[in-house]
Amino acid sequence: MTDTLVPVKPVRLIINGEAVDAASGKTFTTVNPATEAPICAVAEAGAEDVDRAVKAARAAFESGPWPKLRPAERQRILWRLGDLIVAHGDELARLETLDNGKPIAESKNADLPMVYGCFHYFSGWVTKLSGETVPVNPSLFTYTLREPIGVLGAITPWNFPMIMVAWKTAPALAAGNTVVLKPAFETPLTAVRIGELALEAGLPPGVLNIVPGRGTVAGEALVQHPMVDKISFTGSTEVGRHILRKSADTLKKLTLELGGKSPNIVFADADPEAALRGAASGIFYGKGEVCAAGSRLLVEKSIHAEFVAKLAERARKLVPGDPLDPKTRLGALISEKQMTSVLGYVEAGVKEGARLVAGGQRQPVNGKGWFVQATVLDGVDNRMKVAQEEIFGPVLAVIPFDDAEDAVRKANDIPFGLAAGVWTRDVKKAHAVARALKAGTVWVNTYNLYDPAMPFGGYKSSGFGRDLGAECLRDVTQVKSVWMNLE
Ligand code: NAP
Ligand code: MG
Repeated sequence: MTDTLVPVKPVRLIINGEAVDAASGKTFTTVNPATEAPICAVAEAGAEDVDRAVKAARAAFESGPWPKLRPAERQRILWRLGDLIVAHGDELARLETLDNGKPIAESKNADLPMVYGCFHYFSGWVTKLSGETVPVNPSLFTYTLREPIGVLGAITPWNFPMIMVAWKTAPALAAGNTVVLKPAFETPLTAVRIGELALEAGLPPGVLNIVPGRGTVAGEALVQHPMVDKISFTGSTEVGRHILRKSADTLKKLTLELGGKSPNIVFADADPEAALRGAASGIFYGKGEVCAAGSRLLVEKSIHAEFVAKLAERARKLVPGDPLDPKTRLGALISEKQMTSVLGYVEAGVKEGARLVAGGQRQPVNGKGWFVQATVLDGVDNRMKVAQEEIFGPVLAVIPFDDAEDAVRKANDIPFGLAAGVWTRDVKKAHAVARALKAGTVWVNTYNLYDPAMPFGGYKSSGFGRDLGAECLRDVTQVKSVWMNLE
């Protein structure tokens, strides 16, 4: 492997503008999934550290300069943070790839632009957030104020570590909130680095606190803390449900971005080359550890056999490689546990009668790493486990369908509703199917496109609330109605 021996310095918590050790002195080791080797020690936040971070965020909100800063000044600081992320792009991309196992081409060319793009985009909103005057009665002056919520707790997953930091913090900070963020246990490195860059950009102490640690300890402490006004969570549906229950006692506001099992629908009249590319990248991009992965490929029966044969050929050519090699397109899964779970699903699929037409095995690179081959299961029935449960790996379930009605019925026959893809050259059909799909995002003749300006979030068990776009600003602000008697 290229370079994994370049040391990464030990990582500390960021609380109230300072890098600090955990109160307990505890650390954990973050591991490179491609080499199985330790990367560095990370301070492990416990409940006491979370409490300190929340109190710092509270103080920064109640009596610090951030929420009261002139919007143009807040805008400048967030824009500067975006610029610092650009300037440290190579470093951040490398850290992300080391910690997560994703190809450097993805960290650098896809993830990084989204990260600085978010800070730049939401810095633009700081000066445009406003209330309204409302014409109720000439004897009254009635208006609304759009205000920050207060202290936001953010809890993020390991699949897009630095993107998740940007999605959760950029709009929240733009609106004048303060934040305590707990990154995923497996991937704390880029979150802490962005926290450091935020201080360099001029974010006042306590405005953005980063507390790596375990979900069951630091995450729980954040969810239950009475001084946290809202939790914004991205992760599994199971933990999302748990957080929903746990936040009832302190009546926290919530945004939940949860799992998916998204249908990618290929009609017989689709551009075959484009659809093939989209079917493959829809599932194999990000090693399939993508919440919106097109993990159920619905293919119209008349083209099914030929399409799947070509797709299997394509999958076989997509071999796992060293994530730090710029040519690599398939990285390592996040952990041994994840790899075992993914391989278990492949086995379950075959047992239930699906046909394994590509991949299905672990394939170490240089004798190491939690790499899994690009895998295609054909002849899947929508009721099978591999069609209904989120696998979160490079495993595609192919389900044939008869016509548009059958495709929509199968696509929607699932508890999730995060995203969907449609491939057709028929414009009328594309619009009709896009409307009929119960999903928060629909891509037509493309897949996996994201932009800071386009809202993202789930229908059904994929959660509620939205990240990104003007839409998410509703989720990080609250509205006050002011009635003034003019008589
Ligand atoms: P996860 O196990 O739900 O963990 C997500 C985060 O929650 C982690 O930081 C985790 O900490 C923390 N956590 C775990 N238990 C907790 C608890 N009891 N209280 C508070 N926090 C707790 O999810 P994951 O395995 O990291 O990520 C994969 C999942 O995320 C998939 O289901 C995927 O679909 C979903 N996802 C959704 C979106 C979206 O936008 N909808 C985007 C990306 C990923 P630890 O790291 O210590 O476990
Ligand atoms: Mg790691």
